[in-house]
Amino acid sequence: MYRIRIALILFVSVLISNAQDSFIIENVKVFDGEKVIKSTSVKVENGVITEISESIKASDIDIVIDGKGKTLMPALSNAHVHAWAAPSLNEAAKAGVLNVMDMHGVEMYQTTMRQLKDSTNYANYYVAGYAATAPEGHGTQFGFPTPTLTKPEEAKQFIEDRVKANVDHIKIIVEPWKATLDSETVAELIKEAHKADKIAVVHVSKLKDAVDVISNDADGLVHIWWDKELETSQLKELSENKTFFVIPTLLTTIKAFESMGAGANNLLTKMQLLSEVKKMYEVGIPILAGTDPPNLGINYGTDLYKELILLSESGIPNIEVLKAGTINIVTAFGLENTGLIKVNYSADMLLIDGDPTEDIKAISNINTIWKRGKKVKL
Ligand SMILES: [Zn+2]
Repeated sequence: MYRIRIALILFVSVLISNAQDSFIIENVKVFDGEKVIKSTSVKVENGVITEISESIKASDIDIVIDGKGKTLMPALSNAHVHAWAAPSLNEAAKAGVLNVMDMHGVEMYQTTMRQLKDSTNYANYYVAGYAATAPEGHGTQFGFPTPTLTKPEEAKQFIEDRVKANVDHIKIIVEPWKATLDSETVAELIKEAHKADKIAVVHVSKLKDAVDVISNDADGLVHIWWDKELETSQLKELSENKTFFVIPTLLTTIKAFESMGAGANNLLTKMQLLSEVKKMYEVGIPILAGTDPPNLGINYGTDLYKELILLSESGIPNIEVLKAGTINIVTAFGLENTGLIKVNYSADMLLIDGDPTEDIKAISNINTIWKRGKKVKL
């Protein structure tokens, strides 16, 4: 009898836990990460998308969600953050941002935060560990000890140390307003990162540095340059010969310019920044959404919507803007089985009231967020 009761309790608790991450969303518009499906149904079982079809039949025991007037899309990611503590990952998750890419932080603290990937209410945290920079360079001013390097010969050891810390990607800083790494050292860091099977992304603020690091095979830029417009012919040449992505951080850059006052007079204007992004989009360079919180008071969650709106203002079509906040980031950083509404993919999804493919501002009307099929507590 006792054993039967235990078995029964186990059975019921399995049913309950399955019920939490098994459901059907009916009659919903879907942006699947690539295209729009006007109306369909999506079935999720045990946190995984198992069927997408108009003809899904719900049984009596299925949990059914009415998707009429709503849009289902993949969860957002933020390609450029600095998260110092767990609450930041919660703030991200509550805004539907389920993956964040850290670009410079204290490796020891990051270990515990990375373990939160299994917790529904926290964003998955991917890290660069310490960014590569020069002594006294950008990145050394935050009050924590930062390893630095000065010459190409030190690149191998630097990358080995990051690999030991089990980082996800390598971040390099080229910031000539302060002491900075030289071109040869950056080239060697990128080479060593690739040998270790890591992508290498670079902080730049000047156009000439952007061109230089891309020529040296950088995988991505974590900001757009600030100082000059890129010639269309040069852009064409770069995009034809190199594969790279750009995280323009428009919100960050515009806020930075505002805070600089007259100091920003010789830099690009907002309209010029937007036009640089549009030019890159037009030659097929993947654009990724990122906001660089907590710099300039930017938050880890809803401020990402502002970046999407700025990308839309630049003239990029809404569907491509949504890709910039979802699949483009997942692809660039090599995350698997997420970023698309697709069979066998993890149910990392947003249900939006309205339609962000028509009006990008609708992205702020999030009805429900699921991480692996479990509802994120709002
Ligand atoms: Zn940053």
